[in-house]
Amino acid sequence: MVELDLAGRGLDDARVLAAMAEVPREAFVPAALHEQAYADQPLPIGAGQTISQPYIVALMCQALQLGGGERVLEIGTGSGYGAAVLARLAAQVHSVERIAELAADAQQKLAALGVGNVQVHVGDGTLGWPDAAPYDAIVVTAGGPLVPAALKDELAPQGRLVMPVGEQRGWQQLLRLRRRADGGFDSETLADVAFVPLKGAQGWPTS
Ligand code: SAH
Repeated sequence: MVELDLAGRGLDDARVLAAMAEVPREAFVPAALHEQAYADQPLPIGAGQTISQPYIVALMCQALQLGGGERVLEIGTGSGYGAAVLARLAAQVHSVERIAELAADAQQKLAALGVGNVQVHVGDGTLGWPDAAPYDAIVVTAGGPLVPAALKDELAPQGRLVMPVGEQRGWQQLLRLRRRADGGFDSETLADVAFVPLKGAQGWPTS
């Protein structure tokens, strides 16, 4: 998977490729789908949600430009797979999930793998996670209509925020924002993507 789907498609951050090789994706996929765990596709994880495609997880991690010492915020814990990869790339990961059942499941899986530097929280991630702010990097793994103001506020100077943004549910552009020293943001588009909706106060309606 790492050679064909990741390095073969232009991902070249050695730390990201190593983390992707080390984290067992099958541990985060329902037992019935274990045979497909290393195919480069999203898979259902319950509660209508998905574990992201490996290529996209790696692309987002690379875009965060992590050196190892960072404090990272992830919005959308889902299966916990992305958090497990981030845990190998940064010092501390806070991950927020709105569906309590998924958060509990992810927490259990991370603990079973001995991942000690991820804290999973239940809440509306469009409001950020102020308790541990500021963050050197923020990644949102669900697609919203705009970048929530709270997340911009919680980004440290020079911090990177990667998020799928689109005016239609279902299709987004993957954006990277970088906070400048003067407080402003530089923005660039990295790819066209399709994520499940980010639901919440600064996302799509919850019902
Ligand atoms: N990173 C995950 C992918 C999860 S899919 C993985 O590796 O498996 C996106 C997740 O975002 C879903 O679990 C969904 O419930 C969650 N989500 C959607 N809106 C949210 C919000 N406002 N706050 C927190 N989590 C949210």
